[in-house]
Amino acid sequence: MAFDVKEYAQALDSFIIQMEKIQDVINPDIQGAMEGLCQVLRIAKVEADFYENLGYEEQKWGGRAVFYHEGECDTDRGITYREWTEEGNLMQYGIYPYQGGEDWSETEHQKIEVFLKIFLAFNGRIRMQQVVERLTFRDQELGMYNMAWFMKKTNLIISQGEIGKYASCQFNMRHFSVINQRIGRERASRVLGKFVRQFQAMLSNQEMVCRVGGDNFIALFLKSSLNIVMEYLKGTSIVYDEKEGKHVCVKTHAGYYMIPANCDSAANIVECLGTALNMARNVRKSEYAFFDAELMQGIRVGKMIEANLPDALEKEEFHVYYQPKIQLKNYHLVGAEALCRWFQNGKVVAPGEFIPVLEKSKLICMLDFYMLEHVCRDIRRWLDEGKEVVTVSVNLSRVHMGDMDLLDNILAIVDKYQVPHKYIEIELTETGTDVELEHLKSLVSGLRREGISTSVDDFGTGYSSMNLIRELPWNVIKIDKSFLPDKSDDRLKRVMFRHLVSLAQDMEIECIVEGVENVEQIKLLKESNCFLAQGFYFDRPLAVNDFEKKLAQIG
Ligand code: C2E
Ligand code: MG
Ligand code: MG
Repeated sequence: MAFDVKEYAQALDSFIIQMEKIQDVINPDIQGAMEGLCQVLRIAKVEADFYENLGYEEQKWGGRAVFYHEGECDTDRGITYREWTEEGNLMQYGIYPYQGGEDWSETEHQKIEVFLKIFLAFNGRIRMQQVVERLTFRDQELGMYNMAWFMKKTNLIISQGEIGKYASCQFNMRHFSVINQRIGRERASRVLGKFVRQFQAMLSNQEMVCRVGGDNFIALFLKSSLNIVMEYLKGTSIVYDEKEGKHVCVKTHAGYYMIPANCDSAANIVECLGTALNMARNVRKSEYAFFDAELMQGIRVGKMIEANLPDALEKEEFHVYYQPKIQLKNYHLVGAEALCRWFQNGKVVAPGEFIPVLEKSKLICMLDFYMLEHVCRDIRRWLDEGKEVVTVSVNLSRVHMGDMDLLDNILAIVDKYQVPHKYIEIELTETGTDVELEHLKSLVSGLRREGISTSVDDFGTGYSSMNLIRELPWNVIKIDKSFLPDKSDDRLKRVMFRHLVSLAQDMEIECIVEGVENVEQIKLLKESNCFLAQGFYFDRPLAVNDFEKKLAQIG
């Protein structure tokens, strides 16, 4: 059959032009791109088998891509070509004529080889591009998109005017260190990978999940997907041992942002998400927070608090309130906790509103020293006035951990007022990191050496409680009110409570319960052999003159 050179040249041109637009090695558009050329060259089928390595080829474990197929082909008379890709995979291309058709002429053979070489060059270029994309836009460890991709795609959606349809969230794992401890790091990493891949699979290809780093991820999804996204991120069970059916529940902290249509940069979205996530994780300690007007107001208040703090300390707007601690055997006042109240423009601001803000900026350290100093000043005055004095506990934020002069600073204040050390107790909460724990150890031991007692505040609410009391020489455990059963609570909570108390007793650590509000609870405390209590049933935190009246009744 005569070979039409002109027709061939046109078909080749058109093939090249169409292939330029194709971005993937396997793409249905390739059939269309090849059509003209395959007709001229009487090709029925173009396909490729690919294998990860030679061993896989022997076993026939591989995949097949058909790029072009038209009519019946004759696989015995084809041209095959083997090629190793940059990633070390084996590709075997096959080009076949029609069943029953004439053999290819010498010229046709040559042209088919040219066609194949051009096609291979295109595939090589596309694969190269994909490698570059993978290195630039993919997280190597989990093989998913990264932050650079999030920025690129989001900016593209913004430029197309479509961003108003989307919501976004940033999330990280809650208590992932606990999962690490429970099932080991390697399995925990696999759980993490599975959790995000499963999440990704729930979304459509207009949506995406990208890794920011570590256990930090960011997602862009349609507003209509919000419910399923929130449901998934709240907590999802992930199987890590198929055989034994073992699983862990992965939960997250998440910051959400319902993106407005006029949003003009991906960076802006990332900033809003960061703020919302921080609010959820560090301030509200909740599963999630939305970046919204309320949150912005919170931030404004936070900034205002930060800016006003030095002035407020100077003007002594912070007052020490004393909440009595009661011995249940005789209902005597045996101690007090110093709690902070901020009197601002005639209004009292509760610690819950400003302490989280101050903790974020480390300004809390100034306030804690201020409180300690005022407590010492009060005790000094009571002693000078000949009053009976009880031990007062002062809260120290864990933000202090890492301050190597902490012990000296505490002693300097106590000794400045010549307060006997037995009248001061320092309340500390559980710490998160190993470094903090090391510092906590040396602080608690140092205070003990100096005759200043220490208590674990909110005992039981953290995750390292048991280690914490085993390893450190505490004087007192303060059982958090969330462990104190109330009328409606079940038997289990009572059992846990009793065991917590007896644990403290067996370890010869003094035990006090916070948040005692009714007689039933007092009965339970006594039955459990716990005779120290603090709570609204006896007194709310009292202003200093009211507390002094209580002191006057002692003795
Ligand atoms: P905390 O140290 O665990 O203090 C106990 C909290 O429980 C106090 O809240 C107290 O008023 C409250 N409470 C006491 N009895 C009852 C009760 O029967 N029922 C209920 N529902 N609550 C009760 P407050 O004063 O609002 O303080 C909250 C937290 O703020 C404190 O928890 C402490 O962590 C922090 N805080 C207060 N003052 C300071 C301070 O000077 N420095 C630092 N670092 N933190 C402080
Ligand atoms: Mg406390
Ligand atoms: Mg407490």
